[in-house]
Amino acid sequence: MHVRRRTVLIGGAATLLAGCTDAGTRIASASAGPRIAPLRLDPGEVMKITVCLRPFRPSGPRLEAERLGEKTVIHNYGHGGAGWSLGWGCAAEAAALARSGGASEFAVIGAGVIGLTTALRLIETGAKVAIYAEEFPAETRSARATGVWSPSSRIALAGAAPVGFADRWEGWARASYAAHLRMIGLLGDPVEFLPQYEVSGGAPETEAPPAAHDFLHIHRRVRDLQPPWRQMALEENPFAPRETATGNGMVFNVASYADRLARLFMLRGGRMIRRTFPDRAAALALPEPVIVNCMGYGAKAIWGDADMVPVRGQIGWLIPQPEARYSLYYGGVNAISRRDGVVIQYYGPNEDFGYGDANETVDPAETERALAILRQAYVTPAE
Ligand SMILES: Cc1cc2nc3c(=O)[nH]c(=O)nc-3n(C[C@H](O)[C@H](O)[C@H](O)COP(=O)(O)OP(=O)(O)OC[C@H]3O[C@@H](n4cnc5c(N)ncnc54)[C@H](O)[C@@H]3O)c2cc1C
Repeated sequence: MHVRRRTVLIGGAATLLAGCTDAGTRIASASAGPRIAPLRLDPGEVMKITVCLRPFRPSGPRLEAERLGEKTVIHNYGHGGAGWSLGWGCAAEAAALARSGGASEFAVIGAGVIGLTTALRLIETGAKVAIYAEEFPAETRSARATGVWSPSSRIALAGAAPVGFADRWEGWARASYAAHLRMIGLLGDPVEFLPQYEVSGGAPETEAPPAAHDFLHIHRRVRDLQPPWRQMALEENPFAPRETATGNGMVFNVASYADRLARLFMLRGGRMIRRTFPDRAAALALPEPVIVNCMGYGAKAIWGDADMVPVRGQIGWLIPQPEARYSLYYGGVNAISRRDGVVIQYYGPNEDFGYGDANETVDPAETERALAILRQAYVTPAE
């Protein structure tokens, strides 16, 4: 997604926004530019708040085969903040690896986006495939993602990614983007494009230190895939006098997307079995000769991946607002008006936000502050 990083002092937001209790009235008297249906950014619209852990590996996703006793294990996990974006490309590679040994029966562990896409690519080759998972699609961490095309988001650290990683990543990204495009217009709109507005000026921004971790930024390699962005002229800018950049962005309606993948898998003869694996031995005891490990952050404990780091992210979900279907970025906060809810996410002062934090407890104050910041985008700044 086209989001230029901003620096924000969210702690100062409450003070800055003091007195802004009647958001509705202020929004109604917003910008002098053309009208746009405002998002209802009221705490009363919040239907749920969720926390998700990005399965981050400094060296990038683990996608390789390993022989363990009688079994072949294909690892496909550790996609950081890019699992939805890269799923199809990694799935094709994992399926080819799994098939290369001549087996025809496969166990896929995990029913998040990586398990679902991998299982589908495998079953499409005529193989017999069973998904085993503790959580089914709607219960997984994948179901708690923002749902945008963000293929390089927290994908690796520049100093830890192996030589050739960027080329491999580009292949995954291009293959995945093409697969997403094929899902546009399907029942339930699993993938669609939404107008996006990136508003700047007057946000509670401040200088923040750069991230301590050297996250790999390779998005420009695939920038040609996306529709171009442009700066809006004053007379067309609904957020004027604030500056606004706009473009169309690829959005995943995660609820219908995951549901579609699960249905397709079953339709093609797949089985989905609820099972919790307490350790590696339990996973290796599965009857299938080839096991595809798509356990996301769960792989850290079960496969002993000491390198894996949780990166916490929280989303506040507003009741769907079909009258205001667009994305809005302002002051370090993003709102995406998806069909399955308006997702509100505070990105933090830099990419370190949430790094190493495995706390999955919800923080309602973070969502309230994020809503308060976003409401300001609609308010005409004082002279
Ligand atoms: C706040 C946030 C926003 C994000 N937004 C985006 C975005 O906009 N775009 C994007 O591309 N990516 C985004 N991501 C990243 C994306 O969500 C992840 O990369 C992706 O969900 C990883 O999918 P997965 O299938 O590997 O893992 P998961 O969804 O965690 O699935 C793991 C599966 O393995 C199973 N499992 C694990 N351990 C065991 C066990 N011991 N026994 C049995 N089963 C087990 C689980 O039950 C589950 O079914 C976001 C992440 C966060 C945190």
